[in-house]
Amino acid sequence: MGIPYANLDEFAAARRAMVEKQISKRGVASQRVLDAMLSVPRHEFVPDQFRANAYADKPLPIGEGQTISQPFMVGAMTEALELTGSERVLEIGTGSGYQSAVLSLLAREVISIESHTSLALAAQERLGRLGYANVYIHNGDGSLGFPDAAPYDAILITAAAPEIPPLLVSQLSEGGRLVIPVGSQDNQELLQARKNGGTLNSRVLFDCRFVPLLGRYGWSRPDRKSS
Ligand code: SAM
Repeated sequence: MGIPYANLDEFAAARRAMVEKQISKRGVASQRVLDAMLSVPRHEFVPDQFRANAYADKPLPIGEGQTISQPFMVGAMTEALELTGSERVLEIGTGSGYQSAVLSLLAREVISIESHTSLALAAQERLGRLGYANVYIHNGDGSLGFPDAAPYDAILITAAAPEIPPLLVSQLSEGGRLVIPVGSQDNQELLQARKNGGTLNSRVLFDCRFVPLLGRYGWSRPDRKSS
């Protein structure tokens, strides 16, 4: 059964309030990013039991102990990639596919890697159904990047890493931007890095807390249940 129109209007109003109060007022200035987040129906990316909270100012569970990131975090990370529309973007950590959908409206192509097969399949089905045709999902260890389609103009890691995975640096184009939370499993700093003359120069944007990046260049296991 479809969603009643009254609810769709309510979701649209909640989305406008989210963009204004949580994203724009907190400093995300890019109109392209704000417009993309006004367009993507976040309620389609959360499990049914959390739909009423889809536009709330917090991450939400999506299964497998993982989360869809807080809306502000999606906005700030997306803005830090400085996308103009022509880029090929690599995302590590597809999760629900929400961030991928936002990126797909701002770049030419999005390649997204998810290590949980069930999440990768669900995101692929959801993005296809909603018409986000320039997103390509792969199931695997994204800490290795995705060399088959490299180089990328921008790389976004949506899980917390102990360090910047070295293979991601080699898969980034000259002049490309990489955004990643780096630190311990409990606390991280969100870094924006840029590749110039073959080396990466990074700056700290703000403190944050993400679920851990597992895999070859992440952690071998979660320390404990992360939010
Ligand atoms: N961007 C997602 C969204 O919009 O729903 C939220 C991502 S969630 C905070 C982090 C995701 O990274 C989880 O789905 C987790 O399974 C995934 N992940 C963790 N380690 C990974 C790895 N090595 N390769 C690919 N995905 C990984």
